[in-house]
Amino acid sequence: MLNELISREDCANCKICCKFEPDELIDAPTFTKEQMQYIKNNINKDLKFTKIDDIYKIELIKYKSKYKCPLLSEKGCMLPNKYRPFDCESWPFYVMKKDEKFVITKSNDCPIFARIDNKILTNFIKEKFLKRAKKIVKENPSMITEYNRGLDILYEFDINE
Ligand code: SF4
Ligand code: SF4
Repeated sequence: MLNELISREDCANCKICCKFEPDELIDAPTFTKEQMQYIKNNINKDLKFTKIDDIYKIELIKYKSKYKCPLLSEKGCMLPNKYRPFDCESWPFYVMKKDEKFVITKSNDCPIFARIDNKILTNFIKEKFLKRAKKIVKENPSMITEYNRGLDILYEFDINE
C-alpha cells in the first residue's frame, strides 16, 4: 500500500528499516498467533517471541552496534506480504493510542517521508490507510502502543466514528 509513497528503489538505497538502535527495542515488530506460527513452521522454528496478551513480539538479534529483525535477509524481508506484521506494513506510519482516541503519526527516521509534505501524508491516510488502521485497532488492540514521543500527529480518530 505504501509503495505509492515510497518506491522499492528508495528503500534499496536507504536500508534503515528492520534495524533498531539499542533504545528502540520496544519497536520490535509484533505478530498475530497465525503469523508467528507461519514463521515457526516455514522459516525458522527456533526464533524466539515474547507473548504479550494475544500478540507475539519477536526477539531481535545483535547486529554490529545495533539490533536487527531475524527475518531480515540479504534480499530483504523473508516474509510474504500476507504474513508481514502490521507494524511493518504500516511503517513509516505508526498507529498509536492517545487518551481515549487513536492517532496516526509518522516516524522521524524515514528520509523519504521527511521529504513529503504532511498534508499529502494526511490525505493518503484518509483515502487509503485509515480503513486498514481501524480494522487493526478493532481486531488486534494489543498491537497499538501508547503515544510516547513527540512524533508528528497526522490524523486522529475514534474507533466508533
Ligand atoms: S526508512 Fe523509509 S526509505 Fe528507508 S528503508 Fe525504511 S521505508 Fe524505505
Ligand atoms: S518482519 Fe520483515 S519487514 Fe518487519 S522488521 Fe522483520 S524483516 Fe523487516
